[in-house]
Amino acid sequence: MKVKIDESTCTGCGLCADNCPEVFELGDSVAKVIADPVPAEKEECAKEAAENCPVDAISIE
Ligand code: SF4
Repeated sequence: MKVKIDESTCTGCGLCADNCPEVFELGDSVAKVIADPVPAEKEECAKEAAENCPVDAISIE
């Protein structure tokens, strides 16, 4: 599984990095994906992060 962050949509709120720090990291102003592909044991938290992103900037492939 792969996740992507739409950098033009991400507000840098940090929620995804807080909830799933093995997959997302907050950069200077937007979050970035640090696990590509997402390890199987982290898929669930990555999916939750995508669902919980307030601006729907995380997409799953
Ligand atoms: S939760 Fe969404 S808006 Fe917030 S940092 Fe992550 S990708 Fe960006």
